[in-house]
Amino acid sequence: MAMRIGALEAGGTKMVLAVGTADGAILEQISMPTVEPELVVPQMAEWFASKNVDAVGIGAFGPTVVNPANPNYGKICFTPKPGWSNYDFLGTMHSICDVPMGYDTDVNVACLGEATFGCAKGLDSVVYITVGTGIGAGVMVGGQLLHGMLHPEAGHILLTVNPDDPGKSVCPKHTRCFEGLASGPSIEARWGAKAVDLADRQEVWELEADYIAQALEIYVTCYSPQKIIIGGGVAHQEQIFPLIRTKLADYLNGYLKTDELDDLDSYVVPNSLNEKQGILGCLELGRRALEA
Ligand SMILES: [Zn+2]
Repeated sequence: MAMRIGALEAGGTKMVLAVGTADGAILEQISMPTVEPELVVPQMAEWFASKNVDAVGIGAFGPTVVNPANPNYGKICFTPKPGWSNYDFLGTMHSICDVPMGYDTDVNVACLGEATFGCAKGLDSVVYITVGTGIGAGVMVGGQLLHGMLHPEAGHILLTVNPDDPGKSVCPKHTRCFEGLASGPSIEARWGAKAVDLADRQEVWELEADYIAQALEIYVTCYSPQKIIIGGGVAHQEQIFPLIRTKLADYLNGYLKTDELDDLDSYVVPNSLNEKQGILGCLELGRRALEA
C-alpha cells in the first residue's frame, strides 16, 4: 500500500493540512485559522493521527529553528502572534502524532515543492520568493534547503530607495528593506489602495519591479540559483515580470554570462503549481523524513 504522508503548511493566518502520497497526489485537504497554539496545534496533530499517516512534513512561518542539532529545534522564535513566541511547535505535534516529521520554513517548503513537482524540477539550486503580506525567500543550493545560523531572512536585505518613491518602509526594524519597501502592505501604504486594485497603474509596477529586481540581483550574485520563482500576491500581476527581467538585466549589466541569464523569460518566472507549491513541498519534506 502506498505510504500516506501528512503535509502541514503553517501560515500566519491559516493552517493548511493535507494527506497525500509521495508522487504528489493530494487525497484530502482541510484548513483552519491560526489561532493560539494551545488550541490549534493539538487539534492538527490529532487530525494527522486519525488519518494514519506514516510521516508528516511541516512548513512553518518564522522565524523558527530548523536545525535538528539545535536544542530549540522546531520552536517558533519571537513573533507578535499571541502565544506562539518560544512555542514548541514540532515537539507538541510529535507528542500527539508519533511519526517521523520533517520541519522547515514555509518559503523553503515552497521552494522544495517547485523543485520536486514544479517548474524547477531537476534543478538543484533554486530561489523561491514570496511577495505578499510579507516577503521571504526559500533557498535551495546543491539540492539542500539552506538553513545556516537560523535560516535566510532574505526579505530584509537593504535596498536603494528609488528617488521617485514617495513612500516609507512598513518594516518596524528597517527604513529601506525589501519587505518594508515592496510587500503588499507597503504598496497599499504608498498608493492608498490594494495591489489588486492598482493593476492598470504602470508607475506602481515600475517601482515594484525596481525593488524586486534589486533584490534578485543580490540573490543571483550571492546564491547563484539556476532559476528564480516568484510567488505571493504580486505573482498574480503578470505584467510585472517583463519589467523585473529588464531591470534585473540592467542591474547585472552583463557581469555574469550564463545560459540561464541569456534566457531571462525562463529564468525569472511565476510559481507553477497553482498555489499548491507549499503543501506539495510539505509532502516531499514528509517523504524525506520517512526515508531518513
Ligand atoms: Zn525589514
